[in-house]
Amino acid sequence: MPDILDIAVTVGQNFSQERQRQFAQNWLAALIRNEWPNSFSALFPAVKFPLIKAKASAGQGQWSEAPFMAFLHGEITSTPQAGYYPVILFERGFQSFCLVLAQGSHSLTELFGMRKTCAILKNRAPILRNAAPAWRQLGFSAGPFHTYSRGNTSSTEVADDPWAASIAFGKRYMVKTPPSLQEFRSDLNSMLELYEEVVRRVGRLFLQEEQAAEQLAASGELPRTAGLDGALKVAHHKTVEWKHRNSRLVKQVKIELGCTCQGCGVTLSSAYGRIGADFIEAHHLTPLAQAPDQGVELTAKDFAVLCPTCHRIIHRLGCPTLDFLRETVNPKVRAFYEDLMT
Ligand SMILES: [Zn+2]
Ligand SMILES: [Zn+2]
Repeated sequence: MPDILDIAVTVGQNFSQERQRQFAQNWLAALIRNEWPNSFSALFPAVKFPLIKAKASAGQGQWSEAPFMAFLHGEITSTPQAGYYPVILFERGFQSFCLVLAQGSHSLTELFGMRKTCAILKNRAPILRNAAPAWRQLGFSAGPFHTYSRGNTSSTEVADDPWAASIAFGKRYMVKTPPSLQEFRSDLNSMLELYEEVVRRVGRLFLQEEQAAEQLAASGELPRTAGLDGALKVAHHKTVEWKHRNSRLVKQVKIELGCTCQGCGVTLSSAYGRIGADFIEAHHLTPLAQAPDQGVELTAKDFAVLCPTCHRIIHRLGCPTLDFLRETVNPKVRAFYEDLMT
């Protein structure tokens, strides 16, 4: 049976050519999909990295631009579309391949588009590096690596390629002059140990951020302008507001601030009659990033009262100041409500 390195070299030598042929039942696609992950199990006994699974792909139903083999930690991800993981990637032209710690980008790309996603992944890469500081000493470098992106084929810019932008560290090997199996095994062993350290330190942090952003997107409250930071801020705001929704504190806020929206100026009772009188919502104002995680004593001063529409809008804006919200509201709307109430 060919070893993990034999297969990498075979793939490098044959992929461009085989990619011109039919995908179904192709020998190289089968080698990548089946034998390659098996060669990982053959290299390390299951007890060495019990939670790490190798997953290789040459495409789904049709050839992808380039194949890969990812090493997925069960606590972080079960798919290369999400989370972070070591992966064997080929570089442009198939002259070289690399073993890198990279990140999935699927949900981020859906939420923020390609450019912003690359920026987010690039910002996360140092967090991964710092979580396992021995990477340099173990012979890895921070790149750049010129891998194939899974989407856009025309661009060669790392800035436009989520996979390349996402790489924390790695090592390059030449297809023509590959390392010895012993050297590669040792590198892979180091990489997987570093990965386990990153998992212990960073855990599911990024995934939680993405889930928060996804939930906001589903409710139409994902900030338009902000990146992931803005999404997290808004998600945090929502949690505080949710916790206090029916509390005495929020009743106090409404008593102190009244039931006129501080954004657009509507008083819901004048728009809808008595049924709308208490429909005003408490919006949490204090920037939570500045507050400690636990035991913050909130008072009525930490809130504003907003009509449901303004409340949704201020979240969508990424929770800016009340002044910013007021400037966003068309003056004609404010004039209309003032007129209504006199
Ligand atoms: Zn309003
Ligand atoms: Zn709010």
